[in-house]
Amino acid sequence: MSKHLNYIAGKWVRAKRGRTFENRNPADTRELIGSFPESGAEDVEAAVQAAAAAYDRWRLMPPPAKGEIIMRAGLLLKERKEKYARLMTREMGKVLKETRGDIQEAIDMAYYVAGEGRRLFGKTTTSELKNKFAMSVRMPIGICGLITPWNFPMAIPSWKIFPALICGNTMVFKPAEDTPLSAQLFVEVLAEAGLPPGVLNLVHGSAEAGAAIVRHPRIRLVSFTGSCEVGRIVAEQCGRALKRCSLEMGGKNAQIVMADADIDLAVEGALWGAFGTTGQRCTATSRIYVEKKIYPAFLREMTRRARRIKIGSGLKPASQMGPLINAAQRQRVHSYVQSGIEEGAELLCGGKPAKGAGLTHGFFYQPTIFAGVKPEMKIIREEIFGPVTCIAPVSSLEEAIAQVNNTSYGLSAALYSRDVNRAMRAIRDIESGITYINSPTIGAEVHLPFGGVKNTGNGHREASETALDIFSEWKSVFIDYSGRLQKAQIDVD
Ligand code: NAD
Repeated sequence: MSKHLNYIAGKWVRAKRGRTFENRNPADTRELIGSFPESGAEDVEAAVQAAAAAYDRWRLMPPPAKGEIIMRAGLLLKERKEKYARLMTREMGKVLKETRGDIQEAIDMAYYVAGEGRRLFGKTTTSELKNKFAMSVRMPIGICGLITPWNFPMAIPSWKIFPALICGNTMVFKPAEDTPLSAQLFVEVLAEAGLPPGVLNLVHGSAEAGAAIVRHPRIRLVSFTGSCEVGRIVAEQCGRALKRCSLEMGGKNAQIVMADADIDLAVEGALWGAFGTTGQRCTATSRIYVEKKIYPAFLREMTRRARRIKIGSGLKPASQMGPLINAAQRQRVHSYVQSGIEEGAELLCGGKPAKGAGLTHGFFYQPTIFAGVKPEMKIIREEIFGPVTCIAPVSSLEEAIAQVNNTSYGLSAALYSRDVNRAMRAIRDIESGITYINSPTIGAEVHLPFGGVKNTGNGHREASETALDIFSEWKSVFIDYSGRLQKAQIDVD
């Protein structure tokens, strides 16, 4: 069995108390990926000390040199994309094509952030006083704690780690317990690319290690991606300690299909949005509002095509949908399906764990579609995070937008229509951080801000230049070259 370690101060080390956890392939649980350290507060403490020791050297390295390290990491990821995709699919389950996309997103992020090493723009501006110069510059925050989920085990860490690095921070990174190997691959690449010891410290484990990061007084910023439940705990603790905290949480994303849309395209988009990554994307399409005129035809076509989706190990080229991540997640998805049936929604297809050759030992679930779903039903209100989507009829765009907004979440939404006036109204009136026109609710690109409104986040945006706002503090600088005391707001004449 392969035994894996934490990475602290540039060395691979065991958890201090020697505890470990096992990681298995969700498509075939007989296959053990390896054992990983189950870390506690004492391991987080060692990681924080390493990050503190490395801070001055890293902070003072010129950003273009930092950018070069990040660029090298991106090039290494590109070189190893195929090899890593196979390892990550074995660990996380999604089909190879999507795992390649996960790594590609990290590569894109590396290239994008490496260039920031020669920008990190501040502003120069005027002063109200004579012979005085004013500007604002970005400063690092210090030691950052990064806590990530399992559904994008390389892309999401890259969204946090690369921008945190270019801004001059050092960090403690705790990946999800379901995808520790993917995190290790990412950290190895950065170490090989020349990142000095202690700048990035990897601490494996579960809630205990995550909570120790959030609590640690020397950690000045916590960047968290995961569920609203845990995000709320993180926010409360950071709030009490007056720590910076950026949260990316759940979604209940919706697609609207108007009668004037290209229906085939809308069905194709809905299938990809709902069942891509087995529905385990924060941007997954879990609600679809269809104009009445085309509702029956849309339901027929969606169901026909959902039934044809090939379920299987993500490593097999024919598979279109892999397993859910673990037994608890499959149970959770199934209880939502049962609640949908009990509340009177019409089950059009799926609704059960998938059975058949090659599926016996994995957490497979059938693509599931509910129709006639009412706004008060749990399945259309709560995030399911599985291959389940709900379809409901609407009479107008206004009604559809009102339904889209009738949720506590606000991550992503899509409109399918050929009418540009409707598209503009949807862009203006939908409450979401991301809105797509004639493409599905999934499909972020790294140079645009990523995040959501309402309970999906707390006002920050990852990726693009907005990620720099998470990982840096603004400093205003005034340089007086008058040679005398000038008083702001007083000596203005
Ligand atoms: P989760 O909240 O269960 O876990 C996320 C991380 O938090 C894991 O590393 C976990 O070990 C850690 N954690 C758990 N309890 C903790 C605690 N008390 N203190 C500190 N850390 C703790 O989420 P998950 O099941 O890994 O991921 C699925 C969720 O993530 C979904 O809700 C999904 O929508 C969300 N997500 C959001 C985005 C986004 O960008 N908005 C992206 C991907 C996933």
